[in-house]
Amino acid sequence: MELTRRHALAGAAAIAASPLLKTSAANAAAPLADKQAPSFYRYKVGDAQVNAISDGMNTFALADTFVLNAKKDAVNAALEKAFLPKDKVSIHFAPLVINTGGKLVVVDTGNGPGAFASSKGNVGQFANNLAAAGFDPKNIDVVVISHFHGDHVNGLLAADGAPAFPNAEVLVPAAEWKYWMDDGEMSRATGDRMQGLFKNSRRVFEAGLKKKVTPYEWGKDVAPGLLAVESIGHTPGHTSFVLSSGSDKVFIQSDVTNLPALFVTNPGWHLMYDQDPALAEKTRRKVYGMLVADKMRVQGFHYPFPANGYVEKDGNGYRLVPAPWNPTT
Ligand SMILES: [Zn+2]
Repeated sequence: MELTRRHALAGAAAIAASPLLKTSAANAAAPLADKQAPSFYRYKVGDAQVNAISDGMNTFALADTFVLNAKKDAVNAALEKAFLPKDKVSIHFAPLVINTGGKLVVVDTGNGPGAFASSKGNVGQFANNLAAAGFDPKNIDVVVISHFHGDHVNGLLAADGAPAFPNAEVLVPAAEWKYWMDDGEMSRATGDRMQGLFKNSRRVFEAGLKKKVTPYEWGKDVAPGLLAVESIGHTPGHTSFVLSSGSDKVFIQSDVTNLPALFVTNPGWHLMYDQDPALAEKTRRKVYGMLVADKMRVQGFHYPFPANGYVEKDGNGYRLVPAPWNPTT
C-alpha cells in the first residue's frame, strides 16, 4: 500500500476526532518525568568490554576566548551547523570501566563528589552511574589517569576525602606526574587556573592518595591489552590509549579534541584549555589522520555520550560519525 502524505494527514485527523485522544489528553496532566535512565553504555572490543559511564554534562556561556584563534561568530556558526544552540557550549564527561577479562580497569574518574554537590548533580555523576552499571568501586583493580585536569582526577577521591577505589592501583603518566608535582613548575605557574591545577594535583595525590600512585611510561601496556600512547599538547604528559583484543581495537583519545562539533570539524582551532595549543594541534592532526587511515573506532572523553564512533575526512577537517547504539552489548 502506498501511504501518501494525504492519507497520513487524513489518518491523523481521524485519530484526533476519536475518543481515544480525550483519554490521552487527561493522562497528559501527569508531570513530565525529570530524569533519564542511568547513563552507561557497553560495547565489546574483541573479548574485552568497554563500559562508558557518564559523569554528566556541563553547560556554560561561550567565552570570547574559548577558541583562541577563531572569532566568536565563527564558533557560533560551527555550533549552528551542528544543530547546537549558539552562545553556549555543553561539554560531556565519559570515564570508562574496561573489563579485560582478568581485570576491571577505570580510565579517568570525572569531576568528583565536590562538583556533584556544587553543580546540583549535573556533573560528578560517575560514582552513581558506576553503581547503576553494576560495578562496586571496591572491585576495581586499576585506575589509569590520562592527565591531571580536575575533570579527570577529582573522582579519585570519595566525598569524605578517602580513595574512591580503595583496592585499586592508581597509574599516572610519568611525564604528567613529573610536571604537576614539581614545586619549581608550580612556582612559575601564572594565572588562577594554572595555579589551581597545581594545587588540585597536590590535594588529590598528596592529601588524598598519600602519593600511592605508580607512574607509567608511554609505549607500554598499563593493563592487559591497554597500550599507553603519548598525545601531548593538551598537557605536558597527556596520554591516549589503544585497547586491543584479537584483531579488534579502539583508540581512547582522552582530550585530543574537546567538543567534536568545534575541534574535530576544525582541527586547527585552539582550545583555551590546551596548555601548548600548537603542539595540541599537531597531535590532533596526527591522531585523526591515523584514525581515518586505519578506520579505527575512537572513544572521546568529551564527545557527546556514549562518546564513541568513527572519523572521516570532511573538507579541511574531520567528521565524527557516532557508532550506532547496540542493545545487545
Ligand atoms: Zn577533560
